[in-house]
Amino acid sequence: MKTNEVNKWLLEVQHPAKGDKSVVELGMVDSIEIQDNKVTVTLAFAKHRDPLAEYLIGSTRAAVIRNAPEGTQVEVKTVVKEEAPKKKPGLDLGLEELSNVGHIIGIASGKGGVGKSTVAVNLAVALARLGYKVGLADADVYGPSVPKMTATEGMVPEAFQEGEKEVIVPLEKYGVKWMSIGYFASPEQALIWRGPMACNALKQMLLQVRWGELDFLLIDMPPGTGDIHISLVHDIPLDGALIVSTPQDVALADVEKGVNMFRNKNVNKPIFGLVENMAWFTPEELPDHKYYIFGQGGGEKMAAKYGIELLGQIPIVQSIREGGDSGEPAALSSRPDGVAFLELAQKLVASV
Ligand code: ADP
Repeated sequence: MKTNEVNKWLLEVQHPAKGDKSVVELGMVDSIEIQDNKVTVTLAFAKHRDPLAEYLIGSTRAAVIRNAPEGTQVEVKTVVKEEAPKKKPGLDLGLEELSNVGHIIGIASGKGGVGKSTVAVNLAVALARLGYKVGLADADVYGPSVPKMTATEGMVPEAFQEGEKEVIVPLEKYGVKWMSIGYFASPEQALIWRGPMACNALKQMLLQVRWGELDFLLIDMPPGTGDIHISLVHDIPLDGALIVSTPQDVALADVEKGVNMFRNKNVNKPIFGLVENMAWFTPEELPDHKYYIFGQGGGEKMAAKYGIELLGQIPIVQSIREGGDSGEPAALSSRPDGVAFLELAQKLVASV
């Protein structure tokens, strides 16, 4: 590894507010140091508390992780060039709030609309029904759905100051602790989270929240597999991930991207399994019928191809959609769809 090599990788880090020019072209790379297997990049900012600092730090780290040889340690520092720094810019959050959490599990999907949030919310409720202490962090900045799916819209979590730090208290309902970006932003405001603020917001949703003692903390991750994901997965002590897909070929093709992200040599987190959502359609009046409207066996094939377990198959049933819309998750019921989520929860516990 040489500094000019690292410099070349950093051409991939684009500044979203400067016509997507790279940090290299913008002269923001103050220094690159390489010592043994550690790369330290220092980015220069013109002002304190640059709102893009966290985003650029995350993207810089992701660019180095993507390109560097296995086992490389990456540190990204910042320096303010115009005025003497009083405080480090960006978020300076530690991992204390996660110290009493047993397992942190990311719920991911290669693309949106496959029911990732539906699975995350119902799985959280099902784990609570099995007697576990559960929290769910809705990190889907592009469309936070936890408030609607739990009928907690409009509620505002309490926050208090503890020394230098502001601590947020999660809401509690159905035996689960919930936190969502949706509690802090109206739908129009949510737009600003796109891109630059996303990284920052995600970390706050996890690290500034008083989770307390939990057996499981589920993270409803944003759909896709971009830099934000790599940075998030790298910075949060995830135990592993669950990938949600529907059986169509187009959705399954995206599973591959998800698998590759978690198996990236520098991310390297276990995948606990694949959940095939909308595996078949069962009409309410014919509960014993299965119509494979998106094709049959796709999830099984995909799981076998990547050597992961097909952890659960959730049918497409009207009551699951209605539960999502009314804020009463299907997993609260003893109908077959509720039982499907309980079984998924049991399997997850076993595989963790
Ligand atoms: P994602 O988080 O992947 O974008 P959502 O969980 O928001 O997807 O689901 C998208 C829509 O599909 C929602 O209206 C939800 O209620 C519905 N849905 C998801 N899974 C099912 C299912 N198994 N049966 C019926 N409707 C479902």
